[in-house]
Amino acid sequence: MAYKILTSQCISCNLCLTVCPTNAVKVVDGQHWIDPELCTNCVGSIHTVPQCKAGCPTCDGCVKQPSDYWEGWFANYNRVVAKLTNKQDYWERWFQTYSQKYSEQLQKRQSQSVGSEA
Ligand code: SF4
Ligand code: SF4
Repeated sequence: MAYKILTSQCISCNLCLTVCPTNAVKVVDGQHWIDPELCTNCVGSIHTVPQCKAGCPTCDGCVKQPSDYWEGWFANYNRVVAKLTNKQDYWERWFQTYSQKYSEQLQKRQSQSVGSEA
């Protein structure tokens, strides 16, 4: 179960490239990726934690690649939930926007039905 780089998060800072003890991080066509054949999760090196993940300046730049579908599904789910719960006012803003749009639609329909009755 190697690490992988989420290209949508990567800002190409090259830090993982320089710290990886097995040279598993590659750059192809300007995109960083991790060769799963070379990645050892830093096990057996002098490091106690995966260096690419530890040093990445983005939240999710280097993530552990799941070994099966459901493990991947839950990993994504937990990441998204963690992001949402970090934004404490997310649901409040979501509800305000939703209720505002809903009221607008309702008023529009009411005025249309009043217009058609006249
Ligand atoms: S987990 Fe370790 S070995 Fe694997 S890519 Fe990251 S730094 Fe390299
Ligand atoms: S450390 Fe993170 S942001 Fe920097 S190149 Fe690697 S994956 Fe991309």
